[in-house]
Amino acid sequence: MTQESFDYIVIGGGSGGIASARRAANYGAKVLLIEGGALGGTCVNVGCVPKKVMWNTASIAECLHDAAGYGFKTGDISFDWNHIKVSRDAYIKRLNDIYSRNLEKSGIETVQGWAQMSGPNRVAVGEREYEGRHILIATGGKPSLPSIPGVELGMTSDGFFELDHLPERVSILGSGYIAVELAGVLNALGSQVDLFIRKDRVLSHFDRSLAEALQLEMTQAGISIHYRTQISKVSGAAGRLTVHDDKGQDHPANAVIWAIGRDPNTSIGLDKAGVALGDDGFIQVDPFQNTTQSGIYAVGDVTGHVQLTPVAIAAGRQLSERLFNGKDSARLDYENVPSVIFSHPPIGTVGLTEAEAVAKYGDDRIKIYTSNFTNMYHAVTERKTKTLMKLICLLPEEKIVGAHGMGIGLDEMMQGFGVAVKMGATKKDFDDTVAIHPTAAEEFVTMT
Ligand SMILES: Cc1cc2nc3c(=O)[nH]c(=O)nc-3n(C[C@H](O)[C@H](O)[C@H](O)COP(=O)(O)OP(=O)(O)OC[C@H]3O[C@@H](n4cnc5c(N)ncnc54)[C@H](O)[C@@H]3O)c2cc1C
Repeated sequence: MTQESFDYIVIGGGSGGIASARRAANYGAKVLLIEGGALGGTCVNVGCVPKKVMWNTASIAECLHDAAGYGFKTGDISFDWNHIKVSRDAYIKRLNDIYSRNLEKSGIETVQGWAQMSGPNRVAVGEREYEGRHILIATGGKPSLPSIPGVELGMTSDGFFELDHLPERVSILGSGYIAVELAGVLNALGSQVDLFIRKDRVLSHFDRSLAEALQLEMTQAGISIHYRTQISKVSGAAGRLTVHDDKGQDHPANAVIWAIGRDPNTSIGLDKAGVALGDDGFIQVDPFQNTTQSGIYAVGDVTGHVQLTPVAIAAGRQLSERLFNGKDSARLDYENVPSVIFSHPPIGTVGLTEAEAVAKYGDDRIKIYTSNFTNMYHAVTERKTKTLMKLICLLPEEKIVGAHGMGIGLDEMMQGFGVAVKMGATKKDFDDTVAIHPTAAEEFVTMT
């Protein structure tokens, strides 16, 4: 085996790996990045990016429905799923090329192949072996599959992005954000959607009132939610399936989507490198992204901590600041990370849920402000959606420890409120901020 030496070997060219590799190279480190699939990882290829394109597509479908209320005569509208798939794929190919060029410009050596650790500071790709002073594992995750007969007849979110036509009737198993988002897109574009959830609510890690408000919106939009129901078997042939649930009911489906969670990509010879997994199966890291083996680090989905692209990016960059720019205390603060669920309507959230705040501080120290209304967009439309906003304040100074909302525009609203919450804003700071009228966002600073 040949052996080349690097300051930094990065396994995985997704959000976290690329960000960390480029930051390290900026400081003059000799960097090798190994990627087995497409550059950009989950987010670019089968995650945030194609998902957002499809959410935009679905939002346009909703606007077209609403257009009549604003006086437009739109006539017969047809939709070509394959057209948007081809355009979307071309956009992603452009992004892959940009990532490749940026790595080259940063002077990073890139190897295409699947890496295996062959020792505490060695990584092999096929017949070649590389030595690294520091090694980063940023291998991300993959969709989990249920252990039921006929599982192979369904697809995961990866398969959703390969669909070349809109399925007429779709069953989705799962209650997390990916299940909810795919259900919303398919429903808005015209599929009949059955959503099967194990418990009594979607989005169990989010504030209960948001989840309940969204369930109502989803139901009103035509999605059939089957509460406390599991899919126990799928039968039939591709395109003509029957979904059997654990309550003895059968449901016809043209496609079945498994969206029950994601497993970390950890089959990379971690035992040879002395890197331990936590009880949850994710790579165990400390707050500085150190694994249990000195000189080996992990960031992003493979660590199981807040599985979002900007989190993987920020953790990867902070790590390189520490390793290659002498900032010994650099690390990502995982508190108050804002996020959005691209549901219909979208959800924006930052900080503690009501249940988390009560558990942390006690019921008597928490004050809740809420606002429920119909966005002015719907003043003249036949279709109506609700907006819900909620502030969770810590007494006595009413420091805002959670800000949550569901409704039109929440996707673009929460970044700014995220800054305020991160800075420790109080309800009085919100009250002292003059509203922007007429917007939905102004409700956040006028709640009583
Ligand atoms: C459908 C969907 C929608 C999403 N939407 C959003 C969203 O709207 N916003 C958001 O912030 N996040 C979203 N995410 C999550 C986001 O994609 C991830 O949090 C993010 O990609 C994690 O980055 P990462 O670097 O940890 O891993 P990844 O981006 O998954 O990158 C890991 C890379 O490692 C490679 N790899 C794995 N094993 C090896 C090996 N042995 N050798 C070489 N290469 C290897 C993989 O091929 C992959 O390219 C979504 C995810 C999904 C699935």
